[in-house]
Amino acid sequence: MSKYKGINTICTHVGELKDSEYKGAVSPLYMSTSYAFEDVEVKRYPRYFNTPNQVALAKKIAALEHGEAALIFGSGMAAVSTSLMAFLQKGDHVVFQDALYGGTSNLVNEEFTKFGIEYSFAKTCQPDDLEAEIKSNTKVIYVETPSNPLLQITNLKAVAEIAQKHGLVSMIDNTFASPVNQNPIDLGIDIVIHSATKYMGGHSDILAGAVVASEGQINQIFQLAKNFGGSLSDYTVWLLERSLKTMGIRVKAQNENAMRLAEFLMGHHQIEKVYYPGLESHPGYDIAKEQMHGFGGMLSFELKEGLDASAFMKNLNLIKPSMSLAGVESTILLPTKTSHALLTEEDRAKQNIKDGLLRFSVGIEDTEDLMDDINQSLKTITNQS
Ligand SMILES: *Cc1c(COP(=O)(O)O)cnc(C)c1O
Repeated sequence: MSKYKGINTICTHVGELKDSEYKGAVSPLYMSTSYAFEDVEVKRYPRYFNTPNQVALAKKIAALEHGEAALIFGSGMAAVSTSLMAFLQKGDHVVFQDALYGGTSNLVNEEFTKFGIEYSFAKTCQPDDLEAEIKSNTKVIYVETPSNPLLQITNLKAVAEIAQKHGLVSMIDNTFASPVNQNPIDLGIDIVIHSATKYMGGHSDILAGAVVASEGQINQIFQLAKNFGGSLSDYTVWLLERSLKTMGIRVKAQNENAMRLAEFLMGHHQIEKVYYPGLESHPGYDIAKEQMHGFGGMLSFELKEGLDASAFMKNLNLIKPSMSLAGVESTILLPTKTSHALLTEEDRAKQNIKDGLLRFSVGIEDTEDLMDDINQSLKTITNQS
């Protein structure tokens, strides 16, 4: 546990390495992949997750999630796959909520059967539906909240209680919330996973992942991680430390911008629907208000019928199309053309992914400029049709 109370102090200072030689202001970067092995306490090697920069950054990330320990990975999916596989073996069963990040769905659907791991997807993200899938061989329950792309909210206290009752390990992909807006360990969840490519990195220039849990659980994940080999190189570790210093203020700005834009879109005559957990009309609002410190920078919206979402996207000038999310720059994508393109029309309808749905990652720009851009694009496509 960090001695500091505030997130921005943790972001800026926890885990920093002292430059004892030159007294520089920032952590020195140790790029060695080769360390002496005789008369040393720790046998250091980057794939063992124990170089000076890796260890220092893990301290910061553990503190950010109010956990005992952390491991940093070469991608979010390396963190997801290694964490899951560390607690599952042949003959075990795992319960997932329905709406999951596409890469995680692919991992489960394409790989688990060949390792003899059974799995079920709950009908929704509601606790009762998750509990209904538990079997005698279930070992892990895995959720993601807010979810992609409809920002559904899963009740984390309820999930933690279900896990405790049935003796399961509970895991969450906390990427969309970031540690600024949600700390699942405080709510009883065991293992917290992040794609650090998103809010932790925040500048769309780092691929990384992280997991935070108790010392014992991190050690169990480490035993597999050193064999799977998914650690992060020290140069990127150092860049990620730099990015994290501003995460608190970046995400706060994104929360405020997203709230303002959600309200703006709600009141717009050409917008059919807005999905944002900070809106009272959102079905997950009450739970989000209880378990989140802020509602996040992600929102989705549907254009009114007859308006072409692709054309709307193409005519935006400031807001850029992007497969990824969570940068300081605002980006947008069409789930039907990207993350959910491989689903059948029927499955998309079941998940309520409409053709006019756009997923909006709100950046730190001034909201007036973002609103102007949305307005001018809507005007352009209205005149064209
Ligand atoms: C991007 C993302 C991942 C995967 O992370 P990578 O760093 O791309 O491997 C996992 N979960 C969520 C919610 C994501 O947005």
